[in-house]
Amino acid sequence: RAKELGRNTYQLYTPEMNAHTFQSLTLENHLRRALEREQFECYYQPLVDAASGELVSAEALLRWHHPDMGLVSPADFIPLAEETGLIGPIGDWVLHHVCQQLRWWQEAGLPVVPVGVNISALQFGRDNPVEPLEAALADSGIDPGLLALELTEGVLMQDTQRSVERLRRIRDMGLGVAVDDFGTGYSSLAYLRRFPITALKVDQSFVKGIAEDPEDAAIVSTVVSLGRSLGLKVVAEGVETPGQLAFLQEEGCHVAQGFHFGYPQPAEAFAADWLVD
Ligand code: C2E
Ligand code: MG
Ligand code: MG
Ligand code: MG
Repeated sequence: RAKELGRNTYQLYTPEMNAHTFQSLTLENHLRRALEREQFECYYQPLVDAASGELVSAEALLRWHHPDMGLVSPADFIPLAEETGLIGPIGDWVLHHVCQQLRWWQEAGLPVVPVGVNISALQFGRDNPVEPLEAALADSGIDPGLLALELTEGVLMQDTQRSVERLRRIRDMGLGVAVDDFGTGYSSLAYLRRFPITALKVDQSFVKGIAEDPEDAAIVSTVVSLGRSLGLKVVAEGVETPGQLAFLQEEGCHVAQGFHFGYPQPAEAFAADWLVD
């Protein structure tokens, strides 16, 4: 795996290197060429109003069409992209692509909704993380309110003062900001209050057991009321069953996302299913 490979990814193949290492070196080389070979695609997953089931927004989820391996999950290449710094150009591509997609949908007369884009630690930590956002918005000409960023607690907690400043600038531009995978990190309530954010996305690991596990139920119920009392939009991730949805509705969770409503799918299929009546 990329993590075990560490920084020594540039050395030539030596007999000591095992097949495993060789494989991830090959993967890195493929990843380096993936952008120019146009092997990336953004899938879109619906986020719906938990009470009414109506579409409220979408999340852009990156996919890599590898010529031999087929569709590669971001869980399998985002860590490598971060480690190699390739996430910079890949992340910029995602931002541009999502903004252009919104532009095309608007030009086609479709009723668009805001789209969330995942931002990695390296992207948020760059010298000027706002510049690629401004560029993507300027190139497409879309309303900044149509773009929302998803950042994990870990990313925000790396340098809290810097995070507050950067989030402030992003919010001033008019973008939404969601804390992704909430509950898996270690952010304190005090910081949550200081971060100028708009939404909390409750991690799917807690949502999984809400219908049968009292502890998961208690955690989700607490996060929903916490988010509500901070004036944030609360999103439940990974909703797969009617039982989970019923619990979330009871707790007053605003928004739900998961296979129960729709899988991530290519732009055209998403538009046909969700943006056309
Ligand atoms: P995430 O941002 O938390 O995205 C939600 C993940 O949960 C997605 O996995 C989605 O397909 C999956 N999911 C949605 N509904 C359900 C459900 O009901 N059940 C289950 N079991 N899973 C569900 P995906 O697409 O494989 O992405 C994994 C992670 O990769 C994302 O987690 C995000 O952290 C990262 N990622 C995806 N696209 C990008 C990107 O463009 N840039 C960066 N930096 N990271 C990305
Ligand atoms: Mg996300
Ligand atoms: Mg998430
Ligand atoms: Mg996740």
